[in-house]
Amino acid sequence: MKLSKATVYFSGAALILFIAGTLISWGKFGHAHINRAAVMALPPAMQAYYFNHIDYITQEANVPDVRKYTYRDTAEFPRHFIHMEDLGNLDTVPKSYAAAMARYNKRFFIKQGILPWNIQFMMDKLTLAFKQKHAVDILFLSADLGHYIGDAYMPLHVSSNHDGLLTNRKGIHAMFESQIPEQFGEAYNFHTKGAVYIADIEKETWRIMSESLKAADTLLQVDRDLYKNLPDNKIYELDAAGKIKLNQYNEPVHTYQYCKLYQAGLHGMIERKLRASIATTASFWYTAWVNAGKPDLSKIDKKELTLRNAQGMAQERTLWKKGKLFGIDTDDEFN
Ligand SMILES: [Zn+2]
Repeated sequence: MKLSKATVYFSGAALILFIAGTLISWGKFGHAHINRAAVMALPPAMQAYYFNHIDYITQEANVPDVRKYTYRDTAEFPRHFIHMEDLGNLDTVPKSYAAAMARYNKRFFIKQGILPWNIQFMMDKLTLAFKQKHAVDILFLSADLGHYIGDAYMPLHVSSNHDGLLTNRKGIHAMFESQIPEQFGEAYNFHTKGAVYIADIEKETWRIMSESLKAADTLLQVDRDLYKNLPDNKIYELDAAGKIKLNQYNEPVHTYQYCKLYQAGLHGMIERKLRASIATTASFWYTAWVNAGKPDLSKIDKKELTLRNAQGMAQERTLWKKGKLFGIDTDDEFN
């Protein structure tokens, strides 16, 4: 895992060392911000417990991608995407996890992805963890679920044209979800409405899928309208020999200026998607907790820990109300 610069802060007697994780799929920036802000959007009955572990939940946001790219865990890949266009008539696609398992085989899932069903699967696991009051499972599953919800709101994760390969725009994926948030995300507003109960998780999951698919068309179109009028050197970073620079994943790197123009053309779509991911993640965590019978989370940690973190939580909540978050370093170098 690639580590970034450590950020150290003091909260009363507590010293919290936070080291941000790796990139890819909303990048380090996006996933870390989604999970951290989701903690801030929780109701009081859940928030103190989650805040005690907010650095874990922030860092853990990137772990599903670590399983993909560092472990090369092949079972992990399909959990992050779905090719909506390749599913046939969406009205007849099985909506529940159980129905999908009954209809499709492993080969199908590896090729077309499993994202919406995986979200439902994770919700069931998280609900069970709350019922059983398994502290470690609650935190681990919450963090993982936040990652997959973030992926569901990233439009190219639900499209078969997931990296613009079908339209000769390889690299658009990384530009949209990593380069632009890392360049401009400090100005985004991460304050959202609080968690709400979601009566029908299955329906909500598929609503997000449809919304993301529509947005995929839009973001590809905005890019098309922009790049067709520009020469290569305005679109891509070039090396001394005039060749397009590639990032560590062999994808073309776009210029700062192109990213700026593209972001303007998207009229806030990236910020909107990140904000929606935050509100939904908090709502899914909250819904799992309600469905588990609202277990008392204040009994899990020692009360001294909760007491020690109370001031830090109040400070971060004040900051979050201004749209900002504490302790996430977007610098990608460890120094
Ligand atoms: Zn992912």
